This record gives sequence, C-alpha cells and structure tokens, in this order.
Amino acid sequence: MNPPKIDRLIRSQRKTVALIIRPDGSLEVRAPLRLPKKEILEWVASKSNWIEKHRQQVLQIQAEKAQAVSRSLQNGDLLYVMGKTYPLRVIKTQTQTLRLEKTRLVMSSDLLPHAKTALQKFLTELLNLTLAVRFSIFTEQIGKQPARVRISKARTRWGSCSSNGTIAINWRLSMAPLEILDYIIVHELVHLKHPNHSRAFWAEVARILPDYKARKQWLKQYAAWLTLERINDQPLPPYHPAVK
Ligand SMILES: [Zn+2]
Repeated sequence: MNPPKIDRLIRSQRKTVALIIRPDGSLEVRAPLRLPKKEILEWVASKSNWIEKHRQQVLQIQAEKAQAVSRSLQNGDLLYVMGKTYPLRVIKTQTQTLRLEKTRLVMSSDLLPHAKTALQKFLTELLNLTLAVRFSIFTEQIGKQPARVRISKARTRWGSCSSNGTIAINWRLSMAPLEILDYIIVHELVHLKHPNHSRAFWAEVARILPDYKARKQWLKQYAAWLTLERINDQPLPPYHPAVK
C-alpha cells in the first residue's frame, strides 16, 4: 500500500501527532513544531490501515447525508411493499392517484411533492389490513389476545408489548416480507405469555416459527432498507426460510 498522502500539515506547540479525516475525506496531520518531517511521514505510514478505514467511514456518512437531503422521490425509484420491489411510475392525471399495480406503484405527479407522506399513509393502510389477518392466525396458535393493536412510528423499535396488553407494530414493517412481519407479531404476542426474553419465551417463539432466528437475522441485516428516506437502486432481498 502507498503511504497516505497528507493533505494538510499543521504544526503547533503540541507534544503529540494527531490524524484527522476531514468530512471531504482529506487527511489533516497535526504535529509538534520541531518534529522532523521524516518522522511524521513514517508515523503516518504506520497508520495506513486506520486512515483508510476511517476515510471510508467518513465518505460513506457524507454520501448518505447528501443523498438524504438533496433528493426526494422520483420516477423510477424503487419502493418496497410487503417484501416486493416496485418501481415508482409517475403519471399525469386529473385526480390524485396512488395505486399498486402488478409490476409498479403508480403515483400522480401532483402527489410527488408529498410523495413520502402519501406513501407512508398508503403503506400504513395496507399494513392495517394485513395485521388483522395475521393476528387472527397467530392469536389462535398462541392462545392469547392483545387488548389492542396499534401501528407505531417509533424510530428504532419494530414492535412492543405493553403491560396493559397493547401491541404496537412499526409501520415500516409494511415494506418487509410477510415472514418478517410475522416474526414481530409472534414475538410480541408471545410477550403476553412471557413478558421477558427467557428461555421459555424463545421456546414458544420457536414452536410457532421454527426458523425465527433466520427471520430475526434478515431484519437485522436489512433494517436500514426499510425506510422511505433511502434512495433504493436494488431490489429488496427476499427472505429464504432456513427451515421448511
Ligand atoms: Zn421482546
């Protein structure tokens, strides 16, 4: 590997050498006034791996930030609906339209300025219908009824089960494959029996979904894809059951 190029060297009354990766990925080195240049270069060279790793991280964060602020949805962007990938097709119509067709999600151009709000509403309604069906299947298998089911907009939690028996399901699961939504539903329903993550809790989850670990793993791996804040250019990976 070539030694890293120093973009900026700042000498001051300091006693040690410091490396700083700037937001644009450039390398700034701060060094004591009289430390020979050769020593600085050697030291920087010895940190090549660290510098490269951090440079990649900094550049990736900047790229994601830039994408998030500069761009709203547009024709051709990929959207995920219940685990399937649909390109957004923007059309001109007299009336506001948002509908799912076999191979695409059609939206009228006048909805485009509010595309994310409209899509979130659309996906939440779809999830609402789906939840009714899925809960009826699993409440029967588990033998517990939630007092209430609601859809949440939590930033980080996929589901929750409160002590009064209310189960909350995150609206972003409307983008995930059904197997993944089912895992969260089962997880929260089993909490009505075991309000903890004990051995008995996981045994009950495994009784209903023998492949729950793979579902959990999928969700962990693709959590960041399940958002409208991301510009998608790849189809959402399907869930492959580990156990039939
Ligand atoms: Zn839990």
